[in-house]
Amino acid sequence: MNIERQPFGTAPDGKNVELFTLTNSQGTKAVITNYGGIVVSLYVPDRNGKLDDIVLGYETLDGYVKNLPYFGALIGRYGNRIAKGRFTLDGKTYQLAVNNGENHLHGGIKGFDKVVWDAETVVQDSAVGVKLTYLSKDGEEGYPGNLSCTVIYLLTEKNELKITYQAATDKATPINLTHHSYFNLAGQGNGDILSHELMLNAEKFTPVDNGLIPTGEIEPVKGTPMDFTASKPIGRDIGQVSGGYDHNFILNSTGGGVMLAAKVYEPMSGRTMEVYTDEPGIQFYSGNFLDGTITPSTRGKVYNKHFGFCLEAQHFPDSPNRPNFPSTILRPGETYTQETIYVFYAK
Ligand code: BGC
Repeated sequence: MNIERQPFGTAPDGKNVELFTLTNSQGTKAVITNYGGIVVSLYVPDRNGKLDDIVLGYETLDGYVKNLPYFGALIGRYGNRIAKGRFTLDGKTYQLAVNNGENHLHGGIKGFDKVVWDAETVVQDSAVGVKLTYLSKDGEEGYPGNLSCTVIYLLTEKNELKITYQAATDKATPINLTHHSYFNLAGQGNGDILSHELMLNAEKFTPVDNGLIPTGEIEPVKGTPMDFTASKPIGRDIGQVSGGYDHNFILNSTGGGVMLAAKVYEPMSGRTMEVYTDEPGIQFYSGNFLDGTITPSTRGKVYNKHFGFCLEAQHFPDSPNRPNFPSTILRPGETYTQETIYVFYAK
């Protein structure tokens, strides 16, 4: 195992940004920057041992400063949408930044994906990693409370990319952190992801309106295109889903810690990814807004529609306005924690 640290340029706020390259003895390599906590590259072996970068991204910091699709980023304070960017907590109404039509998306205009995190390297017996910390000030993007956050990325000898999150606040505030890599297990830029076979450990999902805000209903996936309880190609029923998949699936969670949420298999390379989490939901997004123009890759590849998919472990969108959804409110004295693990192998 090895970890290397090198400069990656200067952020618009003048802070120096670094790149951390983590390698394990299987040759798996994760390249992570402390700008936005972004996974820039993730090289994983196929069934013949050939390494390919399986996440979409840019070559330079400049790309990530504009990063409209949130490639590879840490998302906070609130992953996904809050309707009209407004919620009422303990009798007080808060107005957040509105950056997605009339709604708040992924933490606002300058979310956790666009801040420079403090970083230190982590070396353990069978893992190497990066520990990122960030203090989000009271009022940032409209959120109450000083929120101190720690996120640790670990690449283990078992080919896991393990993400642990922790946060504490001095005022009650909503929080819903997540990770936003776009995966293409055939290699980034190598076509669309429609023949990837996906299993989601979810019997229910939260339907959404035209602005992708949950209607508040909880519906069974059975007999609908949303049913991934048995593995099927992503493209099989996608034509029946207006706009493509961009939905929160409710995991068959027991509330007993980290469990299998999703499994994806890419037939050509044999690469398989499993996702484990202790979150109650997962956003499956099929890269519907990629169109080859807003995301010109500087890697000599073009990212067209459906060229990557995201599996974002999370609480449900718009939870602060939905008392029937699991609570996302963190109060002083409490600790927010989350653990999500992406595991890779090939067969
Ligand atoms: C959301 C999409 C959004 C995308 C941003 C995903 O998490 O579900 O609706 O367009 O992030 O790239």
